[in-house]
Amino acid sequence: MSDVSAVAQGATPTLTTPEWLARHARVHLATYGPPSRVLVRGQGAWVWDADGTRYLDLLAGIATTLLGHAHPALVAAVSSQLATLGHVSNLVATPGQILLAERLLDVCGVGEGGRVFFCNSGAEANETAFKIARRTGRPRIIAAEGGFHGRTMGALALTHKQSYRTPFEPLPAGVEHVPFGDVAALDDALRRNGPDDVAAVVLEPVQGEGGVNVAPPGYLAAARRLTRDHGCLLVLDEVQSGMGRTGSWLAHQAPHHLGAAMAVDPMMAPDVVTLAKGLGGGVPIGAALTYSAEVSALLQPGQHGTTFGGNPLAAAAALATLDVIAADGLVAHAGDVGRHLRQAILGIGHSGIRGVRGEGLLLAVVLAEPVAATVARVALESGFIVNAVSPDAIRLAPPLVLTRDQADHFVTALPDILRRTTDTLERART
Ligand code: PLP
Repeated sequence: MSDVSAVAQGATPTLTTPEWLARHARVHLATYGPPSRVLVRGQGAWVWDADGTRYLDLLAGIATTLLGHAHPALVAAVSSQLATLGHVSNLVATPGQILLAERLLDVCGVGEGGRVFFCNSGAEANETAFKIARRTGRPRIIAAEGGFHGRTMGALALTHKQSYRTPFEPLPAGVEHVPFGDVAALDDALRRNGPDDVAAVVLEPVQGEGGVNVAPPGYLAAARRLTRDHGCLLVLDEVQSGMGRTGSWLAHQAPHHLGAAMAVDPMMAPDVVTLAKGLGGGVPIGAALTYSAEVSALLQPGQHGTTFGGNPLAAAAALATLDVIAADGLVAHAGDVGRHLRQAILGIGHSGIRGVRGEGLLLAVVLAEPVAATVARVALESGFIVNAVSPDAIRLAPPLVLTRDQADHFVTALPDILRRTTDTLERART
């Protein structure tokens, strides 16, 4: 039996990690850098590698597997949907896609006239937002320094990081970046060329890839007022921050972002919100939500589309994910465990830790030195999956089902991880 058919039939792969990695290197484009582990199985917040070693997954496939691994409700929903109707096309409708759109508009607090476009990833959700912005007929789009919106050409144009952009220039034109959190800079940029030339302002409530930077209180409300004054769209990229991760269904719904302002004036809601990552609990699906009939009308029949977007399988996964999040109170749980994790890390009082930033279960442990890559490597050797989101910060974006005990398990190990990091770096210097 070939390896592939063995895996398909549920047999445990018998290769060791080095054997798998050698084969990986021979067949994949080297876009990600060489991996050091091959994961074969997961359960809840735990995963196991090809050699049987267990890890606490504090990254959740980069802020994605909200229910943890192999959640029975997700497995059942996807299995039964695949056995019933796996994929059709967007030439027809399916019940799951309709139910999911209704649920999403509801949990996201979208009012009358709001609509959903389903796609397969965060980049595609942002491409949709980009096309909506272009349809205003205005030439400029303002995004934030430190912002990350994906790797396709439009999403990349919105993304700030120069090293991601430069090899692919020219990118779609018209995007400018302003310092994140700086209301005056946004105001200046909006006024620069007269009153009516900005199509959209695109922001993450919490910049994930940029280092887990939370928008300062009041920033999104100011951005909303300014965009309204200039008649342009406010697009919020909640691909990483959305679906309960930060302790509210969407990060911008928290009172200190737009929540308090939206409670008084529903017109303070954003115009477009993009989602992906956690939406399908690990099954690929993205969405762009429009918040008013006027914005919904910007994309007309034939102007956008995708083969897989919102197919029965992905819709079933997302519906099951939403069901479990709601039934198990995982939004509040993310807030609680996130606060606990932050306090516990700060409580260690370790000189190597400068602080913790983020919201809910989207956190960065800020280090005193730019040693995050080594910390992540040592953490992996110690049985924890985290990542270096910047040279001096480790990102924690675990499944929302993470328990306090699992959080404590990491916090207890952290001093030893930091000590071994120092030892490793000292050994490398001498
Ligand atoms: N937007 C944000 C805020 C993200 O964090 C990411 C991915 O990290 C994306 C968009 C791109 O999503 P995807 O990798 O699914 O294309």
